[in-house]
Amino acid sequence: MEKHKHFIEQEIDKDLSEGVYDSVHTRFPPEPNGFLHIGHAKSILLNYGMAKEYNGKFNLRFDDTNPTKEKSEFVDSIKEDVAWLGADWEDRLFFASDYFDKMYEVAVELIKKGKAYVSTLSADEVREYRGTLKEPGKNDPDRDRSIEDNLKLFEEMKAGKYADGEMTLRAKIDMSSPNINMRDPVIYRIAHLSHHNTGDKWCIYPMYDFAHPLEDAFEGITHSLCTLEFEDHRPLYDWVVREAGFAHPPRQIEFAKLYLNNVVTGKRYIKKLVEDGIVDGWDDPRLVSIAGLRRRGYTPESIRLFVELSGISKANSTSEMAMLEYCIREDLKPKAKRIMAVLHPLKLIIDNYPEGKTEMLKAVNNPENEELGSREVEFGRELYIEEEDFMEDPPKKYFRLFPGNEVRLMNAYFVKCVGFDKDENGKITAVHCTYDPATKQGEGFEGRKVKGTIHWIKADTALKCTARLYENIVDEEKGVYDDDKNLNLNPNSLTVCEDCYVESFVKDAKAYESFQFVRNGYFTVDSKDSKEGAPVFNRIVSLKSSFKLPEQGK
Ligand code: ATP
Ligand code: MG
Repeated sequence: MEKHKHFIEQEIDKDLSEGVYDSVHTRFPPEPNGFLHIGHAKSILLNYGMAKEYNGKFNLRFDDTNPTKEKSEFVDSIKEDVAWLGADWEDRLFFASDYFDKMYEVAVELIKKGKAYVSTLSADEVREYRGTLKEPGKNDPDRDRSIEDNLKLFEEMKAGKYADGEMTLRAKIDMSSPNINMRDPVIYRIAHLSHHNTGDKWCIYPMYDFAHPLEDAFEGITHSLCTLEFEDHRPLYDWVVREAGFAHPPRQIEFAKLYLNNVVTGKRYIKKLVEDGIVDGWDDPRLVSIAGLRRRGYTPESIRLFVELSGISKANSTSEMAMLEYCIREDLKPKAKRIMAVLHPLKLIIDNYPEGKTEMLKAVNNPENEELGSREVEFGRELYIEEEDFMEDPPKKYFRLFPGNEVRLMNAYFVKCVGFDKDENGKITAVHCTYDPATKQGEGFEGRKVKGTIHWIKADTALKCTARLYENIVDEEKGVYDDDKNLNLNPNSLTVCEDCYVESFVKDAKAYESFQFVRNGYFTVDSKDSKEGAPVFNRIVSLKSSFKLPEQGK
């Protein structure tokens, strides 16, 4: 079936067929001022995807032109995240700050062409002169200063002769343009600040709207894909690359951001969650930072599927977390081994099973994927089952263990509940049952009615470990924010199960290795808190899903 092409593919097709460009070159241009989140994944995968699809090139470029906010530590985490998503920039890693000299030269050329001038208006005055949507702006009193004087002043700005805010360099475009971005935008400002890459070499820095198109043009980018908020800046983008004289200037195309319903993505909010100790860092498994998703157990494949299902369009829309969860289930369903793990243990004693005996029972690793083979599971007289799989006094339609009822122990035998022990507080401490040796692993029970199947684990040899269960960090009922724009936190976003019991072979599982714990969901080995031989598990998702794939073929 022919894949439906989204509007960016259609635009690229058009550009190639009309000979506007003869190849495709894209980039992902993060500002190294924070961690990447699921929204950035859309941009990364789109940019990389277009380069791949059209046999073109893909650059990773750090847009590090703003010395106040940037930190080198983010460079490493961003590289890790982009690589993990599979967007391979090969040897095409760039830093916008490496172009400061070239950008300065372009600015000088603009001055020489009479297309830029040094302004002595303060920031407030620039704003005042700019006008409004209804009223045109007023010309800057410095607008007609001579080219020679502009060149001299700009050079002095660079040399550090002036204080922050004392002067700016403005593009000379049109103070009455209906597009406010075109009303002589500031393209250089003075900032006596150290830069993580260039140190103290510069005390003037280019503004984003001037720097970004030049970065694209210097690198030979053809299609500069960015999000919708830059649509109004496109005329300025085009002005900059045209005035800078590029023969094959890049073309900006805007697409809608990815939004997730009921999910916190704002840097400011996440920073506060980290500072308040509510999460254990930017990679907390409850966050939708790429690092958090990775630690939670999401795979690059699942994120790719999610971005694909969310679609590329110019219309803003919001995706559901349930769809992201659907994507990881789809990915892990055929890949993950299904093993037995008990999260809330209750002792089950099989009174008629020989003491001290261990039997090895075969368990298929993944009924939907034969290639994963099978393994042997230990069985014996004392097991753990889930607390909730026994009820002294069950309601109707409860098919699990209760006095007198028979259930199937997954991969093992039928057992019938014959009693239970309680402590002085009335808490059930053990359940007693008898087993029927004739029912081993699905044999000899034709025609016999057993409605419940429960999982179990042999008590003395199971691996005891910690498992963490998650809910949304915000309270979905109340909404993400309260009236004061603070987060409505969900007090139950993290539940730590300290004594879980799992099949002992998982003690050697590596970080990020994922399993299905039957009936309990998909779990991954936490990369931060697991110790050699003692994994800590994060629940990625439960097995239940309310999500339905939207109708295809739109
Ligand atoms: P800031 O508010 O600090 O600018 P940012 O999220 O825009 O944060 P950038 O590093 O500027 O961070 O973003 C890099 C790229 O990712 C940009 O091209 C931006 O348009 C894109 N991007 C950011 N958020 C989303 C999103 N939710 N969906 C799709 N693309 C996004
Ligand atoms: Mg940005």
